Amino acid sequence: MTSDVLGTLTYGMYAIGVKCGEKVSACIVNTVQQVAYGPDVISVSVSHDNYSNECIRKSGLFTVSVLSEDTSGAVIGALGFSSGRDGDKLKNINYRVLAEGVPVVRENICCWFLCKVVGTAETRSHTVFLAEVVAGSDSVKGKPMTYEYYHRVIKGRAPKNAPTFRENKPKKELNSENWVCTICGYVYNDPLVPFEELSDDWICPICGAPKTAFRRASST
Ligand code: FE
Repeated sequence: MTSDVLGTLTYGMYAIGVKCGEKVSACIVNTVQQVAYGPDVISVSVSHDNYSNECIRKSGLFTVSVLSEDTSGAVIGALGFSSGRDGDKLKNINYRVLAEGVPVVRENICCWFLCKVVGTAETRSHTVFLAEVVAGSDSVKGKPMTYEYYHRVIKGRAPKNAPTFRENKPKKELNSENWVCTICGYVYNDPLVPFEELSDDWICPICGAPKTAFRRASST
């Protein structure tokens, strides 16, 4: 079987809000789905290496903010390509903290809900949390961002902690005119503005890495 087979599965884009003591943090996942009703139960898969995994285990709570197509790549980059262990991932994000102490994103989301963990299942790389939805938005705004939209329109990539991460990218897509972000894998290939002509303070639109974090792609 090729990796393309599992690549046909479809997903959404979500920010998971967590707390660890008084500290709040968040991460981006693509694997949220409703798995039962009455009460409503969802599942979410979170990498063992992810700080949010530890926070959810300790608190038993998390939020899901459903990202819309209007969510900027910078928000996804800030929450999806660095660790909450290393600093405050939410410092440049518009968010609020619920009475339960967990954060929800405020800007450009369709809706949010609060979840209480009711079970877990372990895989070698990820924990699958089962959680009951205990509160949430009264209305839905905008169009939910799909994983396909994130890849096709925002040109985003899967970080290493995503269950859908693939080690090998198809090199035939790249040539020496392309520059690749070494942090998130974003490929810069605007034919109108060569990479060399971008200003020195230009940053990766996905993860916010500086221009110096980019490497020229090798041609095939
Ligand atoms: Fe990047």
